[in-house]
Amino acid sequence: MFELDVTRVQGEFTLEVDLRLASRGVTALFGPSGSGKTTLLRLIAGLDRPDRGRIALEGYVLCDTATCRFVPVHRRRLGIVFQEARLFPHYSVRGNLCYGMRDEDPAAVARISGLLGIDHLLTRMPNTLSGGEARRVAIGRALLSSPRLLLLDEPLTGLDGARKQELLEYLAALVRDIDIPVIFVSHDPQELLAVADDLVLLEKGQVLAHGALNEVLARPELMSRLGGFDISAMLAARCHRHDVRRQLSELRLSDGQMLELPTLDIEPGQWLKIQVRARDVAIALEPVSGTSIRNTLKATITACQPLDDMASVTLVMLDAGQQTLRALISTASCEALGLAPGMTVQALIRAVSLARPAAAPALADQEVP
Ligand code: ADP
Ligand code: MG
Repeated sequence: MFELDVTRVQGEFTLEVDLRLASRGVTALFGPSGSGKTTLLRLIAGLDRPDRGRIALEGYVLCDTATCRFVPVHRRRLGIVFQEARLFPHYSVRGNLCYGMRDEDPAAVARISGLLGIDHLLTRMPNTLSGGEARRVAIGRALLSSPRLLLLDEPLTGLDGARKQELLEYLAALVRDIDIPVIFVSHDPQELLAVADDLVLLEKGQVLAHGALNEVLARPELMSRLGGFDISAMLAARCHRHDVRRQLSELRLSDGQMLELPTLDIEPGQWLKIQVRARDVAIALEPVSGTSIRNTLKATITACQPLDDMASVTLVMLDAGQQTLRALISTASCEALGLAPGMTVQALIRAVSLARPAAAPALADQEVP
């Protein structure tokens, strides 16, 4: 358990947070610019002190204003990566990687540098690296210091599209491989969908919502606050087989229903999360034939909610074998079909809308539903 109960005033701005975070997996801090994400991260890191409060990781108190305890940043054993990589300019890449290690461990360096794809950069100096390469080295350095907690403040911001996607894929694989909690700050929904397990929604220094990513994204009253998140659901599915001739991959959901999508680069038997955007899901009352739509899931309606800022559009919440699915349809269609909670319907999903899910990482055993 990671306990945070802190207040900090900076000029006009007050951060007031009381949170219990899971001590495993990736917790994303999401919120508009100026909502206090970096302020909170700096308090956790020990770069700033709270005016009031306590921070403890697995019972180890990092800071407590009531007892005047404050563990300085270099003794907190945290891996920190900020938006700008901040490498030591006079050390080689290898020197930077080994900087925080107690005892140099060539096997650990080789493992992390392999994972991050920086083997070929080890003898280079920081000023010869691209932005994305420097960012990867910074992440590697943070990991090699054997941190108790990894703090990432917008680690991908400022990278161009292809570099960003590549590093996001490394990160998504990495955070599932390492067994320490990660706090990941971002204002980019695609990044969060790829890596986050839990989501904390910050606004004006306050926590608006906190919970499992899928649960927070399912709360219609937060829709306008989650601006930029394409309303979507993440479904856990297992790769069943690849149909080479038709260039499709077949996935099986936990309740046995199947989905098809353009071929994925994943082994049969592996679990993965796929993003299903609400606007790519249509609803029919009965199974349909004679359409190009390849995927039909039987689902039960749990709620129908017109959007706050666009009443002509209704968000339909669906349960498909214990997994939440969402459909965005016109309010007129919702009324014409007489949709209401409790009804069983067919959710239609276009196969191409499932193509290239954001960094679709394989799921680790403990995440398999
Ligand atoms: P975010 O990372 O979510 O974009 P920040 O945590 O950086 O937001 O900033 C939160 C608020 O605190 C902003 O209103 C910002 O202007 C203010 N702020 C940040 N640093 C300072 C500071 N050193 N002094 C006064 N105000 C600050
Ligand atoms: Mg910030």
